[in-house]
Amino acid sequence: MNNIVAIVGRPNVGKSTFFNRLIKRREAIVDAVSGVTRDRNYGKSEWNGKEFSVIDTGGYIKGSDDIFEGEIRRQVELAIDEADVIVFVVDVEDGITPMDEEVAKLLRRITKPILLTVNKVDNAMREKEAIEFYNLGLGDYHTFSGMNGSGTGDLLDKLVELLPEDKAPEEDEDGLPRFAVVGRPNAGKSSFINALIGEDRFVVTDIAGTTRDAIDTTYNRFGFDFKLVDTAGIRRKAKVKEDLEFYSVMRSVRAIEHSDICILVIDATRGFEGQDQSIFWLAQKNRKGVVILVNKWDLVEKDTMTTKNYEARIREELEPFTDVPILFVSALTKQRLLKALETAVEVFENRKQRIATSKLNEIMLPIIENNPPPALKGKYVKIKFCMQLPTPTPQFVFFCNLPQYVKDPYKRFIENKMRSIFNLSGVPIDIYFRKK
Ligand code: GDP
Ligand code: GDP
Repeated sequence: MNNIVAIVGRPNVGKSTFFNRLIKRREAIVDAVSGVTRDRNYGKSEWNGKEFSVIDTGGYIKGSDDIFEGEIRRQVELAIDEADVIVFVVDVEDGITPMDEEVAKLLRRITKPILLTVNKVDNAMREKEAIEFYNLGLGDYHTFSGMNGSGTGDLLDKLVELLPEDKAPEEDEDGLPRFAVVGRPNAGKSSFINALIGEDRFVVTDIAGTTRDAIDTTYNRFGFDFKLVDTAGIRRKAKVKEDLEFYSVMRSVRAIEHSDICILVIDATRGFEGQDQSIFWLAQKNRKGVVILVNKWDLVEKDTMTTKNYEARIREELEPFTDVPILFVSALTKQRLLKALETAVEVFENRKQRIATSKLNEIMLPIIENNPPPALKGKYVKIKFCMQLPTPTPQFVFFCNLPQYVKDPYKRFIENKMRSIFNLSGVPIDIYFRKK
């Protein structure tokens, strides 16, 4: 599980410039492959061999000139709740503003590591001016220039130092599936969980600034052992009904990162919406297994075609990751909850399966021989051998003479073939072509 770094600060101090600097290299590669629109507010970064996730909490309120103090407060509270380290960005051009003081006041109360960073320090002159930020009462600061990149290396060194020691590894010792129940507010997540485990367990405690690591509670229901990922994000929801898309999506980050499988609950009366899409994307990006539950199915007027049509419409929204189980359930009438659990466990098994190299080659090589990658500039790609990598989530490498000539459509062809043959439903996979 990655540590989470949140970037806070008032608009126009350079948060997104900094965010983009952090995530650039890796993102560009991943997104070129998937063709999926990148979420501008969440990404992965790596420095000195340490990987972490970055949230730009300012992303939502970006661009609003007359931003309210209340919004800044929410942004900072979100960061305090969700992040392991908070990067507070201020702007040397403007100096300390009343809003900076407001943020500093909130941050002085908490015990989480805070990195005060002074941006737009483009030259030596501004380096001197930055001294005034001691007055924020947050201790030492770091200067950098998001524009020309100077200071970024030192800043990242410091940032990585502040990250807590690595969290529990992805694979639990006991090997039980970890489920995160995610979705927009009011979709029925807590109803689903309560129906599943047969108790009302959402006690909301909310002490700002205390470290609240995810607590996984083990359950046995209908003969299945599993863990529910219980994070601040899930627990506190009973009290906070946040309609703003950005906030509810960001509240899901920690739960998703800590899980193996995301049970994405959507509200049947509303359909698959932008927020559902964003949460689905977060799960995909983190290579988590996904099961989609269309909840409140009891409220939908049904004729014979309803389920089919409904399902088809959702799959359109999921493009290109359409190989995902979709179930129609009701937390209220407890319809198909057992099936939901069963499916989630199946996806968990799918995700950790190992396909023997001999079997993989036996099946895939003839398919490739009959449908080779198209020749490019008169050159032919020959794929000779393939294997699954020993990674926590399914990754496959195909060795060939000219990997750079294998384009996305062929990759998708291979992926679709593999999905039709092996049980990979609900599981994001990676396919690489490498030179042997
Ligand atoms: P955000 O609203 O905090 O996300 O701020 P942005 O990242 O959108 O940056 C706001 C403005 O500051 C943009 O016009 C950036 O080009 C500019 N900016 C960002 N970083 C620097 C920097 O290091 N130096 C200077 N001079 N301008 C910067
Ligand atoms: P959460 O915010 O996602 O945890 O949603 P809740 O579990 O609090 O549910 C929101 C509302 O939807 C509550 O009033 C529930 O009673 C209602 N609800 C949840 N599941 C169902 C369902 O399957 N059918 C119907 N009719 N109502 C539901």
